[in-house]
Amino acid sequence: MNLIDGKMVRNAKLEELKEKLSKLENKPNLVVIQVGNDEASNVYIKQKEKLASELQYNFIHKHFKEDTSEEELVKEISNCNNDSLINGIIVQLPIPKHLNSNNIINAINPLKDVDGLTSINAGKLVQNTPGLIPCTAKGIIDLLDYYEIPLEGANVVVIGRSLLVGKPVANLLTNRNASVTLLHSKSKNISYYTQNADIIVVAVGVPHFLTKDMIKDGSVIIDVGINRVNGKLLGDVDFDNLKDICSYITPVPGGVGPMTVYELMNNVYLARKLQKK
Ligand code: NAP
Repeated sequence: MNLIDGKMVRNAKLEELKEKLSKLENKPNLVVIQVGNDEASNVYIKQKEKLASELQYNFIHKHFKEDTSEEELVKEISNCNNDSLINGIIVQLPIPKHLNSNNIINAINPLKDVDGLTSINAGKLVQNTPGLIPCTAKGIIDLLDYYEIPLEGANVVVIGRSLLVGKPVANLLTNRNASVTLLHSKSKNISYYTQNADIIVVAVGVPHFLTKDMIKDGSVIIDVGINRVNGKLLGDVDFDNLKDICSYITPVPGGVGPMTVYELMNNVYLARKLQKK
């Protein structure tokens, strides 16, 4: 078994990004819009702020009350769209239930949509034309590429079809000529697919969902899950029992997770480039 070391890859990629940033006259500006006080969001925003500060990005955290109206938020996003100094805009999800997340996300100018979640960027990904790509999905591809795991013609099973992870990673892999099967909670006999897969990406949010009996020898396992159980972080993969059968595997923590925030910062750099064109 070979461990896919997300921290090591992230650090190598960060050095490349720092090199590119050193050539810029002005550092990029990133706005994070938060509504309410979701605990996990507070942690994720701190992680983003920390890396932004290491890269000397200007990080602007706009924090709105839980009962903020859709109109007010869209107005704020529109102001950020019109501010030529702002390169990236994120609306930290989840947002309170009274807000329509589609309306809010699609209010972001696609050229500043550094989470890659607007309909325009999602469409570009399906069309395989350049756009901004959701960070975790891009991080998974970068990990596979770093370890030179062949994608063309590979049988890949992606479990989970969220707009954030499952669907974009399935599209990215399809664009790289993998044969992709996308599974979800209504899929029957998941083992039938996983037992024949060369690569399995698991993004379901169920601790130890993928077990030893579900995979074939030598497969590559990408565990996206982050589950907090009794104060411990567990992935969606039963790592300890499965690690000796697979050829490559990502640990949790230290696998996919570290890539996500790096990809966000890289997207801010790419967005700035797109805006200059
Ligand atoms: P999500 O929006 O809740 O989507 C979960 C997906 O898993 C859905 O498509 C759901 O199917 C499917 N699913 C749930 N239970 C299933 C089951 N028993 N069998 C088969 N499919 C099942 O979650 P997400 O945002 O994609 O996140 C997934 C996991 O990744 C979570 O643990 C999250 O914390 C983690 N995550 C990690 C990172 C990172 O940086 N490492 C980033 C994002 C997310 P339906 O569509 O049918 O409901």
